[in-house]
Amino acid sequence: MKKQQLLSIIIPFYNEQEVIAECQARLSSSVEAIDMDVEMIYINDGSKDETLNILTQLLETDSRIKIIDLSRNFGKEIAMTAGIDAAKGDAVIVIDADLQDPPELMAEMVDKWREGFDVVYAKRVERKGESFMKKFTARLFYKLINKISDTEIPENVGDFRLMSRQAVSALNEVRERKRFMKGLFAWIGFPQTAIEYSRDPRFAGETNWNYGKLIKFAVEGISSFTQEPLRLATYAGFLTALGAFLFGLYFVAKTLIFGETVQGFTTLITVILFFSGVQLLSIGILGEYIGHMFIESKQRPLYFVKKTYAAAQPISAEK
Ligand code: UDP
Ligand code: MG
Repeated sequence: MKKQQLLSIIIPFYNEQEVIAECQARLSSSVEAIDMDVEMIYINDGSKDETLNILTQLLETDSRIKIIDLSRNFGKEIAMTAGIDAAKGDAVIVIDADLQDPPELMAEMVDKWREGFDVVYAKRVERKGESFMKKFTARLFYKLINKISDTEIPENVGDFRLMSRQAVSALNEVRERKRFMKGLFAWIGFPQTAIEYSRDPRFAGETNWNYGKLIKFAVEGISSFTQEPLRLATYAGFLTALGAFLFGLYFVAKTLIFGETVQGFTTLITVILFFSGVQLLSIGILGEYIGHMFIESKQRPLYFVKKTYAAAQPISAEK
């Protein structure tokens, strides 16, 4: 008999107690349409609620589940990485716990993978339950990052995607600590394709994002993918210096022709404030990159696993 291929499904969980049961039910029924063996790798990313307890109870009902309990909350990007590291599948799918991305799409992703694509990502054509502001700022961010970075990062694409074993191996070699996953997925290359869907609102619970976190995410995303802001600081410095020189010439000429005057407080204060702003901004940009170097140079492990759980008898063990 031909050996069945294995599909790994990775889900990060952070304080998701309300959605787990529904998530498991939708997932189980979705994988029935796929003729592959399945392993479900659930990452508990330091949840403070009953998430881990509920997950371990699932082990008794479904032997395809494996649980990785991280030592603390590391954030979604690292949690996904922990799952991808542990995945053994010929194809690996990453999906959110909150059912914003319909698991039913997985069958279609697998079809695309069989056609020969290494990365199949889900592109939202509609985002229900998200504010105008969030959609607008997201648009702006993708416009900006795609303008200034060499890696083309597709817009309206979340982390929900399928990757071939080859793509996963490539991704596993990228061990940078600040993991802007959407960028990394795109950066590794390989034949990629999209399937379209409309994104649902969260099934239950609350998003872990707020504007503060989103801004941080955007700044980290940009600074870990392109050096363009540094260049921008150089250009800004050059332009302002040129401006200052011309301005200076004008004032010297004015003084020579009309004599010394003590007017000009407004000009002075505007110029001082403007240049202080430009300088602080440039130092900030520099700091962002030095910060990356600081974090990377420490070479810390990406995460620690507190404990892994697996069902006593995995069904795929006899392979
Ligand atoms: N998540 C995580 N660690 C975190 C924050 C979120 O593992 O620190 C998980 C969360 O449980 C969910 C997924 O990442 O499965 C997406 O989170 P969320 O729905 O809050 O993000 P959004 O859909 O609003 O982008
Ligand atoms: Mg969500």
